[in-house]
Amino acid sequence: MTTINIQKLVRKNISELKPYISFRDNNAFENPLLMDANESPFGEFNRYPDSTHKNLREKISAFKNISASQIAIGNGSDELIDLIIKIFCEPKKDAVLVMNPSFAMYGFYAAINENKVLQLNLNDDFEIVQEDFLNIVNTNQPKILFLCSPNNPTGNSINEIEFYIQNSAGIVVVDEAYIEFSEQKSCLELIDKYSNLIVLQTFSKAWGLAGARVGIAYSSVEITNLIYTVKSPFNVNVLSQNLVLEILDQIEDFQNNLNEILKERAWLKDQFINLECISKVFPTYANFFLIEFKNAEEVYSTLIEREILTSKRFPQIPNCIRLNVGSRHENERLINVLKNI
Ligand SMILES: *Cc1c(COP(=O)(O)O)cnc(C)c1O
Repeated sequence: MTTINIQKLVRKNISELKPYISFRDNNAFENPLLMDANESPFGEFNRYPDSTHKNLREKISAFKNISASQIAIGNGSDELIDLIIKIFCEPKKDAVLVMNPSFAMYGFYAAINENKVLQLNLNDDFEIVQEDFLNIVNTNQPKILFLCSPNNPTGNSINEIEFYIQNSAGIVVVDEAYIEFSEQKSCLELIDKYSNLIVLQTFSKAWGLAGARVGIAYSSVEITNLIYTVKSPFNVNVLSQNLVLEILDQIEDFQNNLNEILKERAWLKDQFINLECISKVFPTYANFFLIEFKNAEEVYSTLIEREILTSKRFPQIPNCIRLNVGSRHENERLINVLKNI
């Protein structure tokens, strides 16, 4: 257990905030008459959602074997990234440290909050250079370090994550949006060891619920409470909370879909080997590939002409395009176009 004092890292105005407490959600009733929230007595969705996400957190708690008091639910992990920055980073003063290249949203929310975004440039294998990390951390003392593993858009897992946690004096967020596709161990088991660690996961990728907008932050109870203090009270709607409760009762479907995607990932990789237009396929531990083409510009525009949308990563990553694994039918449509380039 490291002894980082979380309260010392929190912005002063935030530590003075009182959480909005919904009386109805924080007490048990047998047959309540609800006249407290100006809702309509009519309709199926006339009631506000549970602001504490009680049932959902208990279900996830049982599934992951982690205390519900260490689980915070967000309107997508995007909202959680935004909130974590707001809790700890003083505008115009504090800095966040992000890997480069990595997920753009860390820098986006930091910029909205007027925080400096320090770049930790990855090496040719998209790994962090530990010496560079130590230099930046010692010189700039970033308030938050954002690690993404497996990393988007590169697809690789970050090695020795514990080293970065141990050498950070601020908050460390490990974004595990793609962890289900990876054989890498989750950092979840480290949250009791490091009070400054936050692990993000999401229902948007392997669980197939991008439209429902549900993300999870696992952390120390202290940090979970801070997230519940600053979040919008009804951040996760009734439909989405119910949907996730249902899907957690259908683990077999989840597992089957995951296996199918992993099978298709292997199939695509085999197809890529035979394609003239590709110069390199980077190793992936996620549901997407980062691919280097001989002429990415031409490939990208040809695909668009055929209404196949991919993620343009050049020129930041020279000649590279990111594309995700689809169904067999979708993957065949892609390969048939690439074959003729
Ligand atoms: C897709 C993705 C997410 C998911 O964000 P949601 O808001 O939960 O949909 C988070 N982090 C990374 C790195 C991603 O690629």
